[in-house]
Amino acid sequence: MALIVQKYGGTSVKDLDRIKAVAERIRTTYEAGNQVVVVVSARSGVTNRLIADAQALHPHPDEREMDMLLSVGEQETIALTTIALHSLGIPAVSRTGGQAGIFTDGFHTKARIVDIRGGDLQEQLDSGKVVIVAGFQGANSLGHTTTLGRGGSDLSAIALAAALKADLCQIYTDVDGVYTADPRIVSSARKLQVVSYEEMLELASLGSKVMQSRSVEFANKYQVQFEVRSSYNNNPGTIVKAESTLEDVVVRGVACDKNQTKVVVNDLPDQPGAAAKVFKCLADAQVNVDMIVQNIGRDGVANLTFTVPSDDAYRAENAVTEFLKEIGSGRVSVADRIAKVSVVGVGMRSHSGVAAHMFTALAESGINIQLISTSEIKISVAINIEHADEAVRVIHDAFELNKDASERSSF
Ligand code: ADP
Ligand code: ASP
Ligand code: MG
Repeated sequence: MALIVQKYGGTSVKDLDRIKAVAERIRTTYEAGNQVVVVVSARSGVTNRLIADAQALHPHPDEREMDMLLSVGEQETIALTTIALHSLGIPAVSRTGGQAGIFTDGFHTKARIVDIRGGDLQEQLDSGKVVIVAGFQGANSLGHTTTLGRGGSDLSAIALAAALKADLCQIYTDVDGVYTADPRIVSSARKLQVVSYEEMLELASLGSKVMQSRSVEFANKYQVQFEVRSSYNNNPGTIVKAESTLEDVVVRGVACDKNQTKVVVNDLPDQPGAAAKVFKCLADAQVNVDMIVQNIGRDGVANLTFTVPSDDAYRAENAVTEFLKEIGSGRVSVADRIAKVSVVGVGMRSHSGVAAHMFTALAESGINIQLISTSEIKISVAINIEHADEAVRVIHDAFELNKDASERSSF
């Protein structure tokens, strides 16, 4: 008997027919003699609708109240999925994140899992029940509901798989694996059979929303191997695991993040510690800064440009404004939304020329690069958001990612 954790995302449970189909899939796994824990998301569109409702009442709703509101979406799905299983004669019980023992810090809307303790999942499994757990949510030390950031049901599933020492963790979604690029943007994208934690983490944090990046970080930390696969068919999916056994390619995939905003700080004193203080106040406000450019100082002042997730732009502006007030100089402004397009691959560690190849492809299509950032296994460029999809296609073509790795000519 194996213990299997399955996660079904929003589109997989979007209406009653889909919930019935998911219940059938769970039944098959259960009747094969497995213990099954199922994590479900809110039905697709529900979380977005709840956010829009709150924002219609207040431009920046209180974060604790947002958690009270958003956690409702998953709660609806756990009950419906459990009821659907009962109608098939399968013993099942639902648990909220808090009831499942998902204990988090107190940072509402972006809480981190601290521990999984005190829930009764194993007892329920041992008594023969399927347990349906609300994804995306936990409880803080006061027992108040918190949420784990957008896409957070992936994290709930991986964390439960780690805590329960599951034999298998399956992430069911609306595509049958992780592709070389978003298959909705690049029709010739190829499904990857395997991808390393590191590459998946980069792809996820650079905008491939198929997995939430924190969930991949967690999987890497606790070495939870998982499979991304479709809830619409039985095709084998993509296995995400440690790097050692992977085929050696230079570029594994292309990611695109259209949810980035450029922030500019003008007339910052050009002296040691100024940039440190700006980024310290951003860190204190829990803003993740990505690409950073500081120009050469002139007349005792310098300009600093950086990108932040668009949802954090308001918080970033407030935090920096406070700091600039304290030091009595400088101006901060939220500039345009941009797209960040990136290539990712562990093979880049030992290959040169990837940046030149990528930049040439963009240049030949007349796409201007505004900012660049690199790490060992990725190169990212910030470009005008209107060119985002075209840039992804052009780069995907340039690296021949539509072909099998053995048939690619240059990389
Ligand atoms: P779920 O609701 O199941 O959590 P998501 O909408 O969060 O599903 O993620 C699945 C979507 O991720 C796909 O529909 C696809 O458009 C998108 N996606 C982006 N990049 C990739 C990629 N490289 N491979 C597969 N899907 C991707
Ligand atoms: N319902 C949440 C969201 O839309 C969590 C998830 O789907 O994973 O972000
Ligand atoms: Mg998702």
